Formats: sequence, C-alpha cells, structure tokens
Amino acid sequence: MDGTVATPPIAEASGCHGGRETMQEAARAAGKSETMDRLLADYPRGPHDQPQSMCPAFGSLRVGLRMRRTATILSGSACCVYGLTFTSHFYGAKRTVGYVPFNSETLVKGQLYEDIRNAVFETAKPEYYDAVVVINLCVPTASGVPLDRLPKNIDGVRIIGIDVPGFGVPTHAEAKDVLAGAMLRYARQEAEQGPVARPRTLIEDRPTVSVIGELFPADPMGVGAMIAPMGLAMAPQVPTREWRDLYSALDCAVAAAVHPFYTASIREFRAAGRPIVGSGPVGVEGTAAWLDSVGRAANVAADLIDAAKSRALPAIQGALAACPIRARITISGYEGSELLVARLWVEAGAEVPYVGTACPRTEWSDADRDWLQAHGTFVQYRASLEQDVAAMRDVQPDLAVGTTPLVQQAKEMGIPALYFTNMVSARPLFGPAGAGALAGIVAAQTRGRERFARMVSFFDRVGTGETAGHGFADVPKDPPGARDRYRKLREAKAKAAASQAMGT
Ligand code: SF4
Repeated sequence: MDGTVATPPIAEASGCHGGRETMQEAARAAGKSETMDRLLADYPRGPHDQPQSMCPAFGSLRVGLRMRRTATILSGSACCVYGLTFTSHFYGAKRTVGYVPFNSETLVKGQLYEDIRNAVFETAKPEYYDAVVVINLCVPTASGVPLDRLPKNIDGVRIIGIDVPGFGVPTHAEAKDVLAGAMLRYARQEAEQGPVARPRTLIEDRPTVSVIGELFPADPMGVGAMIAPMGLAMAPQVPTREWRDLYSALDCAVAAAVHPFYTASIREFRAAGRPIVGSGPVGVEGTAAWLDSVGRAANVAADLIDAAKSRALPAIQGALAACPIRARITISGYEGSELLVARLWVEAGAEVPYVGTACPRTEWSDADRDWLQAHGTFVQYRASLEQDVAAMRDVQPDLAVGTTPLVQQAKEMGIPALYFTNMVSARPLFGPAGAGALAGIVAAQTRGRERFARMVSFFDRVGTGETAGHGFADVPKDPPGARDRYRKLREAKAKAAASQAMGT
C-alpha cells in the first residue's frame, strides 16, 4: 500500500518546542484535519501553549502496557521514545515497548508508514496478542503518517492506530482516554456484529456498574461493597486490563465517570445505550449523592438505595471524625480526581480555598464544582503551573498538594507540600477507606510546618535561582549594573522582533 505523503519540513524539524499552531497546521496540511478536529473537540485547549507535565502520550502508552496480551508500538522521534520508555519502566511496566524509528528520508518519502505496517504484521501473532496498539507521536502526526490505513485485523489480532500528539492532547490523563475510547469503539462494533469472546469475569446475575478512570487497586472492591445492597456489582473498570473486559464493561447498566475527562470513552458508553453518572463516592455528602445517582440510573428501588446509604454513610462519617483536618490546603494536579479529593478534605474539616486541575471542565464534574464553590473553594480548570503557584503564594496554605514544580516552590517557601499523583495513586479515595487514608496523610504532613520554617531560615544565606548550590560565604554577586544591561538588551530584542512581525 502506498503511504506516501508530502511531509511539511516544519513537522520534520519540530517537537515539544515547535509551537502548537505550527504543528497543528502541519498536521492539517498532511491530511490530519479530521483527527485534529476530533482532538480539539474532545480535549479543549488550556491557557498554555504546550503540556506542562510529562509527554501526554505517556497516558496512552501506560494504558496499552497495562493490558494483558496487548503489544504497544511507538512511532516518533527517538528522544520522545527514549523519554516515554524510560518513564514507563520507571513506573514498573516490565513490558517491551515497540519502536519504529525514522529519519528524514523515510519520513518524507512515506517509507515510515511502510515500516510501521511491516512491524505490525511481524508483531500481530494471535498466539501472543489480542491487540496491537500503534501510537503516532508529534512528528509522525504532524507529517500525516496514516495509521488509519493499517489493516483493522490481522489473523484475529486487532490493530488500533491512534494519533497522540502533544499539540492535540493537553495532558497525559486525556491521552489515556484516547486509547481507552479507541478500544471501546472497536469492541462495541465487534459486539454489534455478532458473538464475542466470553469475558473471564462476566457477572450475569446482577446489573453492573462500570467505573471510568484508573483507581487505586482497593477502590473497586470498596465501591463494590457500597453498591451491593442495591443489587449491583462492579463491571471491569475502564481502562481495562484485558481486551475481553471491554465487552463486560460495555455490558454495564450504568457507567460512572469518576474521572470526568474520559470524553471519548463516555461517547462509546453512550453509543452502547448506557446512562452515565458523574462525580464519585467521596465523603458523606458525595457518597450519598453518588449512590442516589447510580441507583436511579440503574432503576433501583428507593428502599434499596436507602439501604446502601445507611450501610456506607455511618462508616464514612466515623472515618472522617477519627481524622479531623484543621488546616488550609491548596490542591493542584493533572490526574482529574482533584475535585473529588478536595471534597473529601473539606468534609474532614479542611479549608480548601483553591483547586486547580489541568483537566478540562466537563458536565461530569459539575456536581463537585458546584459543591466546592458553595463551600468557598475557587475551582480552576485547565490550570497552568503559574495559576497554581500564584494561588499558593496568595493563600499561604498549611499544606500545598500539587505537581512536582509546585511542590518544589512550596518547599522553598517553607510550606509543607505533597506530590498529588503519588499521594492519590498510593491510597484509596472512595468510601470509608478513602476517608481514613487521605485525611490521615494530611494530619501527618501539616505537623511538619515548623520543621520547614527552620529549614528555610537555616538555608537563608545560601544562593537561590542561578546562584543555587553555592555555600554560605561565597554566594556570587551580580557585577554592578549587569541586570540592568541585560534587561535593556532583552527589551530591545523584543522590540525588534515585534517590529519585524508587523513588517515595519
Ligand atoms: S511526543 Fe511528547 S515528548 Fe515528543 S515532541 Fe510530542 S509532546 Fe514532546
């Protein structure tokens, strides 16, 4: 098959720093307009030009690597692939990541597509795999490498080709949805065409609830216990761990978008005729509202919904009472569960004046946003690092929970800080278990404030910024007038660039 496409030279030479608009234009010129339109509709833009966290494609890569009998192949620049494979192994993937390298010639002449196609045929062995995932990174997407021309099925092995460019998918969280949605779509169409493989864990005697979003491993069991009095059971969560789990996930009575940014996945559940509920079972009020929504969507009788609430809510109330939080906390993250964590802490007694999430606003977090705003919290969707840091400086919290660069700045200011991702992914969030675990960690961390203050005063005379790392006695001093000279130089340069852009 001829995959030859005229590669715009700019796409070949650009990457994270190529500029979003330039890369998007290149992708459109290379025939990817439909893909770009879909990505822009599903994952609306934020205030910053490029992702401020890790390469977004990591989200898709991680979803593929966590599935049994699934091979994942990357198509992109070697530096991107190095970073992505490093990160995946850092997070314990223990799986091979396929890579189809390219150079200017294979990219421009269309040979890269042929190389990908050959790699897919070599990999798609039904004795080893149910599916082969191919992920186009920035340069192949901007160059129009047409993964949609790959065969859909080779000897029973499904072939899923997706474009996950950093200039089209703002966060790695949403990149999980790109692959999860593509897989759900494929599985839904298979199920519509005829019988499919029987899921290993199919529950046939009760209606089920599919939870959308990656959870701490104990959370599905906790949520299952909470919905059991309503006669409901848990379906496999999405992203799934195995291909045939996709069928049982789609077979649910209700899909619960606890991570509210899974737009493509939700589209597939809707196409399968499943009702969707938002928010999640956090804290007493959040859990009561969530059980009501799930029960109603699954047509459960009111007395059974009440029975579920009477069993779950006192235990959550007890766990919150055992770990009261007396602290002011700011929360920032890119996982999509930031609003749920904030609700839990507010119920535990915390003052949470600011929540920033890198994820976009969708209707599935509306209830959480309304609840938080009613409790005095400012909610910033698509928050940039600058907004998160400004909020922290403004609020001066007892604990800042956020991304790595925010935590670093907090510690420099003597504010105890926690990395959101590690904290949330290492602890339950829902039900009584979440109330106990997440409230307990805050109590422990805020006790460290005085220690941080002592550290800041101890290091007070050590260099910071460009002088970091110098001892107490030899912190370098700027040559007299140097800063002023450089400021004037920068201003003159910016002025010249602006005049050139205006053609004057
Ligand atoms: S694939 Fe990721 S690392 Fe590579 S250029 Fe795009 S955003 Fe950057």
